[in-house]
This record gives sequence, structure tokens and C-alpha cells, in this order.
Amino acid sequence: REAKRTGNRICFHNKQLAQAERQRSDLLKELKVALTNESLSLVYQPKYSADKLRITGVEVLVRWHHPYHGTISPAIFVPLAEENGLSRILSEFVVTKVAKELPATGLLGNAIPHVSINISATEFNSAQAMENLYDFIQSQAQLAPYVRIEITETATLNDIGKSSALIRSLRDRGLSFSVDDFGTGYTSLAMLKDVTVDEIKIDRSFVAVIDSDSRARTIVSAVIAMASNFRIDVVAEGVETEAQLNTLREMGCKQVQGYYLAHPMPIKALVEHLEVAQTHATKNNPTQPYSS
Ligand code: C2E
Ligand code: MG
Ligand code: MG
Ligand code: MG
Repeated sequence: REAKRTGNRICFHNKQLAQAERQRSDLLKELKVALTNESLSLVYQPKYSADKLRITGVEVLVRWHHPYHGTISPAIFVPLAEENGLSRILSEFVVTKVAKELPATGLLGNAIPHVSINISATEFNSAQAMENLYDFIQSQAQLAPYVRIEITETATLNDIGKSSALIRSLRDRGLSFSVDDFGTGYTSLAMLKDVTVDEIKIDRSFVAVIDSDSRARTIVSAVIAMASNFRIDVVAEGVETEAQLNTLREMGCKQVQGYYLAHPMPIKALVEHLEVAQTHATKNNPTQPYSS
């Protein structure tokens, strides 16, 4: 009886696996179609100076509006794209779309100093893919000077020597680099020893516990001090409360990003958000010219 039950369970398990596999391959087919039509869109999440909450840049995040499943998170479909050789198509889609949306606002290089684009680990780990991406970005002349690339720490882990040479070469040609989810890999320190980047983003798992976990606070303080010595900008991501913002300020963190400040938003909302921010700045500081 017991054996039979176990047998049934295994059988059930296989069926579930097969179903999951089918769902994945359906999703992949649909993703290929989505990359060619209008069902992928972009949202923009600003980051701010911690002191006066002025915008220091925006990050682009991709969204998939699926006809049945609703909005699918990039945490699901970016890995799917990566595993199936679609990273390049996805990145080129994002760059093309940003180039269409953002320079037209007249804000890029002014109220929005730069725009950060996330790329996948597989793309970063191929020098050829990075050269292709660089050329593609350069082909968008209005956008290119303002692009910052966000890579995850785990992407640089593969081969730090290769990564540092690649980043150096691309930085020499005007691209800037940010290390995303900083502190989640095991190479944070080793990486900073050899790789020169412009920014690191402290992972939101540290920010989430910043007011309750003194060990997390100690680590974040050390990261801030170290980055400051290397003249690397530090952004705390995932700031959700005023208390977290204040703690980070006290710790000397200079930039913040997260739902407490602003959720990711479509380009139209971003433009409105900046107009409101501009009006407030003018009200609080009447000596500043209204336009600039
Ligand atoms: P990420 O680059 O670390 O982006 C931050 C993620 O945290 C975003 O999720 C954002 O919506 C979310 N977030 C922002 N503020 C808060 C907050 O205060 N609290 C919480 N809980 N979450 C917050 P999203 O948009 O779902 O993106 C997930 C990941 O997918 C990104 O992590 C990034 O690694 C990847 N991704 C997004 N867009 C792209 C893209 O265009 N290309 C590639 N290759 N990857 C992308
Ligand atoms: Mg990012
Ligand atoms: Mg991040
Ligand atoms: Mg993250």
C-alpha cells in the first residue's frame, strides 16, 4: 500500500514536471513573439541623492504584458531569454525603446544625468556580445553618452581578470558601469580589488534589515567606507521606509532608490514626476530659476 502511494506520488511528480516543461516551452514561444511586437514595455525607476532627494539617474526595467498571465516579471522571463540565446535581442529591444522614449523628453543629460540599463550575465560573459552591445548603443547617438550598464556581481565572478579588462576597455570608450545586487555574491571584496566601476548598488536584502540587523549595518558601513575610498558611488536599492532612508543617511550613504521614493513608472509618468519635483524644488528654493 505504502509502495503504491509512493509510486503514485512519483507518477504525479513526473506529470507535474512535464506540465511545467510544457508551460516553459509555451512561454518561450510567446516570448519570441513578444520581442517582435508591442507586448514588452519599459518602466523607469529614478534614484535620488539621499540628502535633498534630487534625481541622480533613472534605471530601465522591462515589463511583459501577457494576454493571459498578466504582467510577467523580468525575474522570470529574463532567465528564459538568457537560456535560449535571446539576450542580444532583448538588450537591443531595450536600447531601441529607451532611445525612442527618453531623449525625446529633453530630460536626458539635464534633469536626468544618466540612464542605467540592466544586462544579463551571459551577455556580459561574452566579449563579443559586449562589443555588439557597445556598437548598438553607439548607433543611438542621442542616448549613447548617457548610458550606464548594470551587471550583477555574480556575472563578474566567472573570470575577474577578463571582466576587469573588458570593463576597462568599455569605460575608456565612454560607457559607465554599475555593480547591481552588491553583497549577494561571494566576491564583493575581490572584485573591487581588480575591477574599476562607477557605482555599486547595495542589494535590497541588506536594506530590508538595516534597522533590525546590526551585522547587516556593519557590512553596509564597511561597503560605504570602502567605496568612498575608491571614489565609487554607492546606491542603496529597495528603500521602502522613511526609517531606512534616515538610517542610510546617517551611515553616509549618498544615493537611494526604492518604493519609498518612487516605483518604476512608464515614460509619461516619469516626465510628470519630474515636473512635480521641479515645481517643489522651485517652491522651496525661490532663488533657483524655474527652467534649467
Ligand atoms: P534589479 O536590476 O536589481 O532591479 C530592481 C528590482 O527591484 C526591480 O524588479 C524593481 O521593480 C524592484 N524594486 C525597486 N524598488 C523596490 C523596493 O523598494 N522594494 C522591492 N521589494 N522591490 C523594489 P523587476 O523590475 O521585477 O526586475 C527584476 C530584475 O530583473 C532586475 O533586478 C534585473 O536584474 C532584471 N531586469 C529587469 N529589466 C531587465 C532588462 O531590461 N534586461 C535584463 N537583462 N534584466 C532585467
Ligand atoms: Mg538593476
Ligand atoms: Mg538592483
Ligand atoms: Mg536587485
